[in-house]
Amino acid sequence: MSQYTITVIKNEQPKPKPASDQLMFGKYFTDHMFIQDYSEERGWHNPRIIPYEPISLDPAAMIFHYGQTVFEGLKAYKTKEGQIQLFRPDKNMERLNRSNDRMCIPAIDEEFAIDAIKHLVHIDHEWVPDTPGTSLYIRPFIISTEPYLGVSPSSTYQFIVILSPVGSYYKEGINPVKIAVENDYVRAVKGGTGEAKTAGNYASSLKAQVIGEQEGYAQVLWLDGVEKKYIEEVGSMNVFFKINGEVITPMLNGSILNGVTRNSVIELLNYWNIPVVERRITMQELFDSYQKGELEEAFGSGTAAVISPIGELNWDDQKMIINQGKTGEISRKLYDTLTGIQYGTEEDPFNWIIKVK
Ligand SMILES: *Cc1c(COP(=O)(O)O)cnc(C)c1O
Repeated sequence: MSQYTITVIKNEQPKPKPASDQLMFGKYFTDHMFIQDYSEERGWHNPRIIPYEPISLDPAAMIFHYGQTVFEGLKAYKTKEGQIQLFRPDKNMERLNRSNDRMCIPAIDEEFAIDAIKHLVHIDHEWVPDTPGTSLYIRPFIISTEPYLGVSPSSTYQFIVILSPVGSYYKEGINPVKIAVENDYVRAVKGGTGEAKTAGNYASSLKAQVIGEQEGYAQVLWLDGVEKKYIEEVGSMNVFFKINGEVITPMLNGSILNGVTRNSVIELLNYWNIPVVERRITMQELFDSYQKGELEEAFGSGTAAVISPIGELNWDDQKMIINQGKTGEISRKLYDTLTGIQYGTEEDPFNWIIKVK
């Protein structure tokens, strides 16, 4: 049997599916999951799709102690014709391997991983919801499994993919959020792991997120970890500002996550001949442009919300109300175009869509 043959064990006790208006984010899971093992002797082997179930690990498994793990997040969308499709899964698998490299995890075969995801989604295709804005969230992740308390890379791993039907991010239409600039905590530093999608980055961001929520903010805006001067990201989204007709996003610097949505936004803006630049931008520059009346729009980008307009941004006690707290023209156009491509109602000039079957 080839190392690329996926063994399938069907779940004989499928669960009832939640109604699509009851869906939330990441709370329900489908009937199947994909697993593949890694050992130094055999490399990645034994790929299988099995009933969704708890996994059993040794309490000394390295994942529990030193957090050597990576993950990805993408979605499957159902078109009104019933076609199930993925958005740029190749980008997610490329990034998974970049995260793997940073975390000393052996590379996966990107094409095979896409095939495995397609196969899994096809088996659970009845779980892809079809009311507007809903989708099937796909969570590939790799954990270190060797039972060993020494600090070194694990010699064994598991690559797992689970699926979760998710509701519309915007229940009442795309809506601007209130954001606080984070001045105490940092998310990542140059040379650290900010560019990798790895658990520790999220664990270390919780404190600021909790405090922000208590103060009535949806997310925090992260500044660079050294000088706390340069803008990096917003929550777990990349961030864009439209200043004086030009769209600016912080350039990738090793501590910013290289978002697939970020990349798609840049490509679309270029395609529409709307000026877009990737460069460093300080909080002071943003505030100055706000005071001059030149800050026209601000928004976050990510797979979960696609585009999340920022209506209010607070920097210490300086309050910025952006575009009168309303969704801007570019934010709206990007949201409509990206979701249109994802759900198959708009043409796909970049061949971003991969059909599941
Ligand atoms: C995943 C993620 C993003 C967005 O990436 P997408 O590929 O667009 O979903 C941005 N920032 C952080 C910290 C992330 O984890």
